[in-house]
Amino acid sequence: MIIIIFLLGLCIGSFLNVLICRLPCGQSADGRSKCPRCRKTLSWHELVPLASFLIQKGRCRGCAKKISWQYPALELVTAAFFVFVYTPENFVLNALLFVSVSTMIVVFMIDLQYGLILDAVIWPSAILVGILQVLTGASIFNLLSAVLVAGGFFALQWVFSKGRWIGDGDIGLGILMGLILGWPNILSALFFAYVGGAFISLFLLALRKKTLKSAVPFGVFLAPATLVALLWGSELIKWYLSTI
Ligand SMILES: [Zn+2]
Repeated sequence: MIIIIFLLGLCIGSFLNVLICRLPCGQSADGRSKCPRCRKTLSWHELVPLASFLIQKGRCRGCAKKISWQYPALELVTAAFFVFVYTPENFVLNALLFVSVSTMIVVFMIDLQYGLILDAVIWPSAILVGILQVLTGASIFNLLSAVLVAGGFFALQWVFSKGRWIGDGDIGLGILMGLILGWPNILSALFFAYVGGAFISLFLLALRKKTLKSAVPFGVFLAPATLVALLWGSELIKWYLSTI
């Protein structure tokens, strides 16, 4: 079964690559993929996740242009996450986990490369996650509390800073995070995001890679923090409650 989940992860990862390439430029996700240099339409055997990259030694068969290592890397990362979160014999829960992992990978990559959090990513995912949560029997009151806390937290910052501290995309991402994690796990995601964000910012400041004024794409911290909270958030909360 693990092999099947791994292969499923590779295929979904390949689809996430398409979304990450196309959505920020306003292109639709359907239609065949082309080589970005020679525009050669890729055939099915050039689109097999991971295998095509290895067989073609990382080059386009049309023009021999190097294919970015980002594509196979993202397929592998997605597959690894799928194997890691997989819960035997619970179809709906697995669907929920896979959708959550996939969305956060896309949010992370697009915010990292373009500084954007796209409505076209957030809202379809939020609807799907909401439906799957209800199907798993999660408490709607619990989910709405988490949505209100995270969405409200970012909305307040957005209003007070007039959009300078965070973008309005972060509000939508907050709502999605609330739906994925529920209460009180949403708090561990915010904790991980701020602690991680602070450490990495100090590190980059020390390396003089950025100044205090440079804008931070906050989704780059929120998305991994959501995944960490999804995997270990309840342990953090247990530990915290045991220390007070
Ligand atoms: Zn080419």
